[in-house]
Order: sequence, then structure tokens, then C-alpha cells
Amino acid sequence: MTEKQPSQNVDTATTTESKDVAASAPITGAGQVIAFHYDLYDDASVQVESSAGHPPVQFLYGQGGVLSALQEAFLGKLKGDDFSITIPSGLAYGRYYPERVQRVPKKNMDNGAKQRFHPGQIVHINQNGQRQAATIVKVGKFNLDIDTNHPMAGKDLTFDVKIEGVRQATDDELAHGHAHGPGGHQH
Ligand SMILES: [Zn+2]
Repeated sequence: MTEKQPSQNVDTATTTESKDVAASAPITGAGQVIAFHYDLYDDASVQVESSAGHPPVQFLYGQGGVLSALQEAFLGKLKGDDFSITIPSGLAYGRYYPERVQRVPKKNMDNGAKQRFHPGQIVHINQNGQRQAATIVKVGKFNLDIDTNHPMAGKDLTFDVKIEGVRQATDDELAHGHAHGPGGHQH
């Protein structure tokens, strides 16, 4: 029985230069865009993030789009592979600094007098001339206790990863230093 070769269906007039890497070719890194799904757990096995229900995350290898310890774990793997990696806090978002918890008057916050605050809320403060994200840890009558540590500071992180795609970056992506399209930069 002879099977007809599937037609390639390549429109040469509109080639995107974004070529999938052969399914059997291990990831080599630089110049590749990797798409993956992930679930992220902290050291108490609490799921803190997941890409489920979203397009896979896309990143251009070597451009800081993901934690470098996670990025390295992709090397040598194939599309379709899944793996799990635990990254110690020092290689993730760094140690937790207790002194980064501070008390600030509500009236110093944007719309502070009117706004209702709640613990866990992310706010932005101006500190040393920089706008910085902070997490509210406690709400008082006149003051807020806020924490400017990264929400994942001091945590060892476990990523469960499934590799959804590997392709060569386009010239535009290489020039911009990031991946384009769903799960990457949109512009
Ligand atoms: Zn771009």
C-alpha cells in the first residue's frame, strides 16, 4: 500500500524564518525559542504558579527570560520531554531579608486615604527614587506593614515542566532579545 506524501503546505511568499527544530534534535540553547508549560511549587509543596489554561511560555534562550538554573535544565532535552527541577532560593529569587519589612503611613500611599487595603495585596511604593513592588503583610488603622522582598525570596522552587515546542528564533526576535507571539512578547 502506498501512502501519498503529505503536502508540505509551505507558503514561500510569507515565510516567517521561524522554523521548528526537528523533533529528534536535542535543545542546544542560543538562537532557539523554547515553549513550555509549567507548574511551580514552593518548598512547602504549595503550587504558586501554573501556565495551565494559558499559552505555553515562550523564551529566547540566553536572554534572561527565565531563571538561568531553569534555562540550563532544557539543554539536551527534546520537544515533548517533561522534567522536574528544584532550584534552591539562592539560584532563584535570593534570600529573604527581614529588614525589608517596614511600616508606612497609609496616607503616603497613592490614594491611601481612600483605598481599602488587605493583606497579600501588591502595592507600589517610591523608595530611593525608584518605584518598587511590595506585598502588604498587615493592615493597621493608620499604617501598613509592607514587605519589599520578592514574593518568592527565600524559597526553594520546584518546576514541573513539559516542553511544548522548540524552534529557531526569527531575525526580529534575535534583534529584540525576546520571543514573539503567544506566551512571549506581543507588540
Ligand atoms: Zn520584540
